[in-house]
Amino acid sequence: MEFELTEEQRLLHQTVRDFSLKVIAPGARERDSKGEFPRELFKEMAGMGIMGMIIPESYDGACLDYISYTIVLEEIARVDGGMALSVSAHNSLCTNHIYLSGTEDQRKRFVIPLAKGERIGAWGLTEAGSGSDAASLQTTAVLKGDKWVLNGEKVLITHGSVADTYVIMASTDRNRGKKGISAFIVEKGIPNFKVGRVEDKLGMRGSDTASLIFEDCTIPDANLLGRINEGFIDALKILEGGRIGVGAIAVGIGRGALEEGLRYAKERRQFGQPIANFQAIQWMLADTATELDAARLLVHHAAFLKDHGVRCGKEGAMAKLFASEAAMRATMKGIQIHGGYGYTKEFPVERYFRDAKLCEIGEGTSEMQRIIIAREIFKTDP
Ligand SMILES: Cc1cc2nc3c(=O)[nH]c(=O)nc-3n(C[C@H](O)[C@H](O)[C@H](O)COP(=O)(O)OP(=O)(O)OC[C@H]3O[C@@H](n4cnc5c(N)ncnc54)[C@H](O)[C@@H]3O)c2cc1C
Repeated sequence: MEFELTEEQRLLHQTVRDFSLKVIAPGARERDSKGEFPRELFKEMAGMGIMGMIIPESYDGACLDYISYTIVLEEIARVDGGMALSVSAHNSLCTNHIYLSGTEDQRKRFVIPLAKGERIGAWGLTEAGSGSDAASLQTTAVLKGDKWVLNGEKVLITHGSVADTYVIMASTDRNRGKKGISAFIVEKGIPNFKVGRVEDKLGMRGSDTASLIFEDCTIPDANLLGRINEGFIDALKILEGGRIGVGAIAVGIGRGALEEGLRYAKERRQFGQPIANFQAIQWMLADTATELDAARLLVHHAAFLKDHGVRCGKEGAMAKLFASEAAMRATMKGIQIHGGYGYTKEFPVERYFRDAKLCEIGEGTSEMQRIIIAREIFKTDP
């Protein structure tokens, strides 16, 4: 594994960093306070190739490798965790699932407009009764003639109320459990599909989250995604890559707290000197810098394996687990360094703290990551 970024990756890093600071950062606080998803910004980001990052150029994607993908997510999350979450759900969950499992016709009809950012993507697995135990989902899809009839409700879906194209996992054979789940492409505006509750969240507030309701909703057989009864297996593969992205988002949010902490420590004076002179403050920042570097290495290692076609379930889980917990520690310390002002909305660290929490929950909680890691390490004889 290379420890240096390539010339292209360095250039991409700089370009996205500039764009994030100039275009994404200025509205982050307002998006957080209003809890509004910014459609215009989404389009502007699409113009940078950010909506089809891991899709080949032949489908209008930017054809980035996974390490580059994590670099982009980290830089966006550095200024706005909510936008990074939206970008990751659109790219790695919805668009990538259709690209990897879709027919040529589905790739042309759905992947191209998603990659160009003309449509917004969402991916629905979670239900009220099935989160960590996702295979126990209750939404059903029954084939009637040449149409599928969907019934059920999905909850906590990123872009639930703003998406145009949805990938929905539903049971097609109840007796077969996780081997009886299939994926479907559902388009906005079709009859008997409606958006339910839009969530008022703790953090990631610029990213839309809503429930989806299907009541005898009919979709054409042509919208079955992948092979019948293999939707859950495909979903697990999608989550394997998704977790690497959440790890990168966590590193980005943590870095936000680190950089704000460094800045504040140099400016804030107590006892006649900058608080940066106090070893207690220096150690908090030193610990954060060390943990975030370690987290980034785990993220890049998992991304490197993914780029080389190696299964990376354990490594992706380790990256997400460590990075999200490091981000929580980083943002808590960031608030501590800011003292009382860190507890107010005058500085962005309290937002980073709220945003970071999602990384320990979304795309599998920290407990589930530990289960994945434990399962893998017990397979290997010491
Ligand atoms: C902002 C946001 C965006 C999201 N976006 C999407 C999306 O786009 N698509 C989608 O499908 N889902 C999405 N989700 C849902 C998310 O993936 C789930 O919330 C997550 O997987 C956890 O499921 P749950 O909320 O049902 O928690 P539960 O599964 O009910 O877990 C509750 C607690 O029990 C613990 N627990 C559960 N099982 C075990 C076990 N076996 N051992 C130890 N502890 C256990 C969990 O770790 C957790 O601490 C999103 C969630 C949020 C908050």
